[in-house]
Amino acid sequence: LNFLPAHSRESQPGSRPSPWHLDSQGAHVEERRRVTAKRKRAKTPLEDFHLRYLWVTDLSAQAWCEQQMVYHRERPDLQLPEREVLLNTGKSIHLVRELQDHDLVDVRTTSQEDRWAIKLLNLLQAIADLREGRRVRECPVFGVLEGVFVLGIVDQLNYTANGELQLNELKTRKKPCLPFPAQKKRDRFQIFLYKYLFDAMVQGCLTQDNFVHHLHLEPKQPLGLQIQEHAQKVGFMVHCFQDLLELMVLNLTHSDIPAIGHLQIEYVHQQTNALIGTEVITYDHDELMAMTHDFLEYWKGQRDPKGVDIEDTWKCCYCAFKDICNWRQQRAGSLTKKCSEKKT
Ligand code: SF4
Repeated sequence: LNFLPAHSRESQPGSRPSPWHLDSQGAHVEERRRVTAKRKRAKTPLEDFHLRYLWVTDLSAQAWCEQQMVYHRERPDLQLPEREVLLNTGKSIHLVRELQDHDLVDVRTTSQEDRWAIKLLNLLQAIADLREGRRVRECPVFGVLEGVFVLGIVDQLNYTANGELQLNELKTRKKPCLPFPAQKKRDRFQIFLYKYLFDAMVQGCLTQDNFVHHLHLEPKQPLGLQIQEHAQKVGFMVHCFQDLLELMVLNLTHSDIPAIGHLQIEYVHQQTNALIGTEVITYDHDELMAMTHDFLEYWKGQRDPKGVDIEDTWKCCYCAFKDICNWRQQRAGSLTKKCSEKKT
């Protein structure tokens, strides 16, 4: 099986040479040149979607189907209502766990800097808790990967009995069974990336300039009164955004918090809240870097979005965008066959 479009089959061995020069993947070189030139002129997806940063979950969604992740942004009107229900149920289970460790406080924000200040304050509190050996829930992690600012929220960090720092990611599931390998691959990528970002932070790699340059934040922006009051309650005297940036860098640089040594994913059944199983994951730096580089190529406009590989076409059968999907339509024969095989 292959994904070659019908017109390119003329280039198979034994056929007459075409006046069009075909490259090894079956695309006309002229067409490729045209697409490359167009891409050079066009905005990148980051610019198109007006994004200054990506969430870790944006990247992990690409591990499932990049084209689907793009459609979720472009065509939210086509999303299946049950997806919303599933997401909300998952959020409620996460919230119950978070409330076991701390209360939630509403703080009014009046600027972009205020909104980022809340994330930095949450990180500062997490650093303080980890230094005291306490468990931390919903810990923000930030970093810059290949020139792109990336943000994530780690479900839980805690120390194991032998003193190792452990990352525990909670995944809720509609069905009371462990996920397929494709879902595990997406989940694994997500926690690899969390570990990478967290370790880089506690090793002092995060700078003030990362926030100012990538997020276009104004260091001298005074923080809103409610933010200043909240910061004071949790032990920090701050007036402008730069005060918080300096505190963050100082606390991270001088923290004796270790790198994450243990990674695990806890799968929980949504309906009953019962544990389905726990998977211990071995960190693979090369796998993380290779996948991240590939995903960021799309965001930086260096290639078009990709749909699923032929062996993963079963994912299309459950996809809200299958009727409008270009990737699928261009490969109609092989994909439709796989989908009907799966259904029978
Ligand atoms: Fe991806 Fe298939 Fe959905 Fe297209 S139909 S977006 S290839 S899962």
